[in-house]
This record gives sequence, C-alpha cells and structure tokens, in this order.
Amino acid sequence: MSIIFADYQPLNFITVTEENALQLLPLVKITQGILWLPNSLKNIDIFDDNLVKYYDRALGEHLVNIWHESKAIIFTLAMGAVVRLITPLLTDKNTDPAIIVIDRSLNYVISLTGGHQGNADKLTELLANELEAKPIITSASSSLNLPSIDTFGHIFGWQKGEGNWTEVSINIARNKPILIQQNSGLKWWQNRLPSHQSFIFDTPESSLVKTTPENNENSLKIEIKDIKGMVYIGVEKTPKVDIPCISWHPRLLWVGIGCERDTSPSLIESAVTDVLNKYNLEQKAIASLATIDLKNDEIGILALAKKWNLPLQIFTSEELNSVSVPNPSSIVENEVGTPSVAEASALKAGLLPNLSENQLKSPYLVVPKQIIRSLGKKGAVTVAIARSNLEYNPNQGKLYLIGTGPGNIEYLTSTAKTALKEADIIIGYSLYIDLIKSLLRPEQIIESSPITQERQRAQRAIELAKWGLKVAVISSGDCGIYGMAGLVLELLANQNWDTKQPPLQVFSGITAMQSVAAKIGSPLMHDFCAISLSDLLTPWDVIEKRLIAAASADFITAIYNPRSNTRTQQIVKTQEIFLQYRNPNTPVAIARSVTRDDENIVITTLEMMLTHSIDMLTTVIIGNSTTKRYHDLLITPRGYLS
Ligand code: SAH
Repeated sequence: MSIIFADYQPLNFITVTEENALQLLPLVKITQGILWLPNSLKNIDIFDDNLVKYYDRALGEHLVNIWHESKAIIFTLAMGAVVRLITPLLTDKNTDPAIIVIDRSLNYVISLTGGHQGNADKLTELLANELEAKPIITSASSSLNLPSIDTFGHIFGWQKGEGNWTEVSINIARNKPILIQQNSGLKWWQNRLPSHQSFIFDTPESSLVKTTPENNENSLKIEIKDIKGMVYIGVEKTPKVDIPCISWHPRLLWVGIGCERDTSPSLIESAVTDVLNKYNLEQKAIASLATIDLKNDEIGILALAKKWNLPLQIFTSEELNSVSVPNPSSIVENEVGTPSVAEASALKAGLLPNLSENQLKSPYLVVPKQIIRSLGKKGAVTVAIARSNLEYNPNQGKLYLIGTGPGNIEYLTSTAKTALKEADIIIGYSLYIDLIKSLLRPEQIIESSPITQERQRAQRAIELAKWGLKVAVISSGDCGIYGMAGLVLELLANQNWDTKQPPLQVFSGITAMQSVAAKIGSPLMHDFCAISLSDLLTPWDVIEKRLIAAASADFITAIYNPRSNTRTQQIVKTQEIFLQYRNPNTPVAIARSVTRDDENIVITTLEMMLTHSIDMLTTVIIGNSTTKRYHDLLITPRGYLS
C-alpha cells in the first residue's frame, strides 16, 4: 500500500455514471479513497467491492453526511452541479474539505475550493499526475510560481498568526513590494523564490525598518512608502505597523510550569498568558508545555495543554536535576527533590528537536522564572520560557526513496513522479536534481549535495523525516541499484528503526542497464549481470573475482562506474579478463548519458572498446558468446529460433 496519499484521508470520490465509476476505480484504489455511487448503480460489476459505497438519498443530502469527515471530496460531475451542491456547505477555508472536480473524460483535474488550506491545489497536482490529466489551479501564487503565503509555513510546523491575510495576499498577487521580516525559523523556503518576485528581505543591516532602542521585534517603522504589505516570521506577536501585515510563528518556545497543588486552572492560564504578554511573545509560537512528574495530574496544567492544543512534557526530578538553571530554589528542592521546575523543564523540553546542524546550540531561557499569584485565587504558579534553535514540528515525516530513471523525465515512473511532487524536500546529487527540477512545486525545498557525500545525505534525510518533513531522496536510475536506498535502509536498521516510524517507501526506477539495453535492441535477452568497477567501497580483488565469474559463465555483463578521473585502469583490466573467455569480436555497447541531451551510444567490439571514450556517465554492455550486432543494434538470442 502506497504511503503517498496517507495525509489526504478520508478521501471521498463521487460520480453518478457507470462509465465514470469504472474509469475512476483505479484512481480510487491508488489513493485509498472511497467511491460513492447512487444506489441506482448497485448493479454494475465492480472488481473490488471495498472501494465502493452507495448512497440512497439525494446527492445534496448525502454530501451533508460526508462533508465534515472528509479531507477531500472529488467529483466527476458537471462543475456547475458541483458548485450548487457545495455552496450551502462552505463555511471556512480553514476547515472545509478540499473540493476537486474531474471532468467526465478525465482530461482535467480542477482545484475548486480549499486550494491552499485544504491542500486542494497539491492534491489536484497529484491526481492529475496519476491520471495523466492536466491540473487546473487558479490560485495566484501558483501562477506566479511563488510558495503560497498562507500555507508555506505548515511544513515546518509553523502556525499562522493574526493579520490582514486577504490584503497581503492580494498585494503579493499584484506583485507589489512586500517586506519579509524573518526573525526566527528555518529560512530554507527563501532559497527557491523566483528571481522576478517582489519580496524585500529585511535584514538587521537594512535601512528599511527602524527598530526602537529596546530592539523590540514588535516596534517597526516602515520607511518606504511603496511597500504594500509585510510578512513577519518570528515568535513575537504580529507587529502593529501601518501597512497590512501577517505573521507566521515558528514553534520555538517551551513553557515550563510549576505550581502549588490544586492551583486554580484559570490562574494557570492567566499566568502563562500574562507572561507571554509581558514579554511580547506569541502563544502560537509555543512548542509545548513542560513540568515535573509530580504534576502529571495537576488539573490546571492538563486543562491548559488541552485548551491550547499543546503537548505536555513531563520530567522526573532526576532529569530536571541535571539541568543547570539561573534561579534555583532550595525551598523547591526540599519539596520536590530538584531546585527548579519551571526553568529546568522548559530548558529540558527545548532539547527535544534534534537535527545535527542544530545540536550544538542548547536552548536558552527567554523568560526566567516568574512567580504569579492572584488575590482570591487558589495557589501559585511559576512560569519560565525557553527558546530552542530548531522549531518543533508536529507533522508526520516520511521517506520516499526514489529512482528517477536514466535522465529524461519521460522515463520516470508515474508513481515516482507523484511521490516527488508530494514531498516537502528533495535531497540528492545536484546533477540528478537538475534533471527533475521542472516537476517541482515552488514550495518544495531542494537540498543538493556533491556526489561524494552519500552518507551525510542519507543521515540528513532520516533526521529530517524524523523531525517532520516528507523527504524524497533521489538516485538516478533505480535507487536500489548502486543508489541511495540501501544506504538509507542500512542506517535506519542501525538505529533500530521499527519499519514504521518514519514511514518509508521505495520507488523503483529504470536502471542505466535497462535504458541502455532498450536503446540498442535486446542485448539482455539471456542471463545477465551488472558489475560496478568502483573500488572505493568494494576491494578490487572482489570485483575482479566477479568479473572472472561473469566472463567465464558467459553472462551478458553491464559495467557500471567504468572509469573516473582517478580510476582509469579498472576498465582495462576488465577488457583483459573478458578477452580470456570471449571472442575479440563480441559486440560491446558504450552508452553515455542515455536519454539525456548529450546521449551518445557507440557499438563496437570487445577488442576495440578501449579506443572509445568511457567515463563516469557511461555504461558498457558486453554481449555473451551468442550476441550479434545487427546494424546499430545488439540482439542476444533467447533460443526460440535455434
Ligand atoms: N542507480 C543508478 C546507478 C548509479 S551508479 C542506476 O540504477 O542506473 C552510476 C553509474 O550508472 C554511472 O557511472 C554509469 O555507469 C551508470 N549510469 C547512470 N545513468 C546513466 C545514463 N543515463 N547513461 C549511461 N549510464 C548511466
């Protein structure tokens, strides 16, 4: 079962004709959706009953029943009918399901409502890809090739803040200058902005924005008259400025709470709220609450976590004892066995996010211990707030290990393409990323690295997936053939991965050997093998043994990694070995950059093969004793005609 569509469930399809029902079923199956049909179609023969359910009332009434429980509803109906059906049900773009319409001939997939918040635009692209149909997306950011301003932070777990979202979005769509002030949170999203966009990035050195002497993030003065909007990204409250401003809040704040037994819940809530206000910190930037295990049943703390929808982390007194804090208290130590609850638990909680580049910097206190009491309310509360260097991301990450094929995207399988489009971040060697770049959405982060850094790349992919990103790791050809899949899986196995967290799926690709073979006829019609000549990770004597075995057993042999700048003799030795077992006239294909713009294929013989250029972008196929050359093709007989 594919994991690609896991985030879009429950996914409901609706159609009313037998023909469309049958056409949609494969898509329903791939996406793990349900196809709803009117009772009148009960007699049609459906190959898989689990995919279909029937409704017996008017479609409008049925829609009411499934509306709230659907992440997405996909109609194959006239668009006018869909608009009439959904209009009475639309309430709020933050909670409405994504509504998508597929035309009756399945040529177009149209994102109708819930484009951004409901993820309809993205789902539309994925469905269109599966159907080989054209996606129709009309949101402004999509046509400007910009990440959509009202959703782009979700992948990092950021929360949307206050502000005039409509006005800022309109001004972005009009290409007006927009000031971006990002004070915290990952900046990766900035790397893929197109060159012709109108964002102005405010930096501390910039003269565009003046801050008050206290250097308060919230007291901005915009000086340039033309600026028509502002996007603030940080942990403070949305700035009050004269232009429309919106905000995103990376979840970097960890709130430690201690309290007397049975402190009034309203006191706990008002204490945390007051502390946030006093320090101008935004509630939506909170990653979690934290406290000591003695308080794991403290009603006011539990109630606050529930009301604000925050995780609550609980630490033992021994765990908290190990944290050094600025304001330890011997009274607290006598009572609970550790000198600090609020400060220590905030700092301890903030340690949790964990990416190697952020590991070195520890969380630090932005609000030292505050003690709050209130006349007439029972109890007392201590609150401290720590800030981490990496934002907390509650999203479910996953790993897609994708073989992108030999080069040209025509050779990429359609399911691999869907996975690539679904990912938040694409990690791979720069050459391979360039080959698939045209497929990517503007929100997708690209992390390319030099070819030698496979291990770092794999480890990074795992960390990011554990943190909460959907990570696509790409290899050329097949990712499980001299590619990244094995390395990622080996590393996960070393970390005692339970095969489920993070979820992982491998997407096969057309390996170099197959794409070369297809270009030159049918050289692999009999038993064959692949041997890589790279002795960076495999000792040469092992490779040599395999070459001798393949040559002597008359395997058609595909040679990968035949020659690099530093490894020049391996291919010479290979020819020598094969000449001991095979006729010098044995046909050989030397194929470079197959399916890419600079594709070059030479058909030659074993004897002459070294007179042609061979490099790291080349695969060499050596025929067996029966392989024949026919014009520029190689044919290995299977035996039917003999
Ligand atoms: N995972 C890849 C192989 C990576 S090893 C796959 O399954 O194809 C790298 C080697 O693959 C190169 O040295 C070359 O021998 C071969 N190769 C990759 N792409 C190729 C292409 N488009 N044309 C010819 N050979 C290719």
